Amino acid sequence: MKIIRSLRQFLLLDMIKGFGITLRMLFAKKFTLMYPFEATPISPRFRGEHALRRYPNGEERCIACKLCEAVCPAQAITIEAEPRADGSRRTTRYDIDMVKCIYCGLCEEACPVDAIVEGPNMEMAVEDRKTLVYTKVRLLENGDKLEPTLAERLRRDGGYR
Ligand code: SF4
Ligand code: SF4
Repeated sequence: MKIIRSLRQFLLLDMIKGFGITLRMLFAKKFTLMYPFEATPISPRFRGEHALRRYPNGEERCIACKLCEAVCPAQAITIEAEPRADGSRRTTRYDIDMVKCIYCGLCEEACPVDAIVEGPNMEMAVEDRKTLVYTKVRLLENGDKLEPTLAERLRRDGGYR
């Protein structure tokens, strides 16, 4: 056994074998993606950055029922609300502290009108913690920007809800 091992070492067989693997992998199909220029497909259930949605006529979907605030295990959501002149109830404040959020999706599941949703965006790194307190304005902007995508995700996942 010792002679065989010495012979292998002398002939550099292990090194040649290693070079062989390197050469083979040079031409093999690559599994590494050049993120962010390339990305894998994302499931409609992916829980990324939050958004507040509107109805097609521009009216906010949220009816300030506060179910999302109550169900949030991280107590990340803060809602204040008051009735409008027409008697409808709407939020005057809707904040999500993204530092507290654990992206569990319970707020989305609890919402009776599909107002608060978690979208596909995960590129939300910032250098300042204050920026991670999302206000109602920002959440509505996210919703306006991504509405076709959000609606499609809800449609695709609808059969499993
Ligand atoms: S995803 Fe979970 S932790 Fe984050 S705001 Fe919604 S309920 Fe709270
Ligand atoms: S987002 Fe949905 S669950 Fe939360 S307060 Fe508005 S309507 Fe209620």
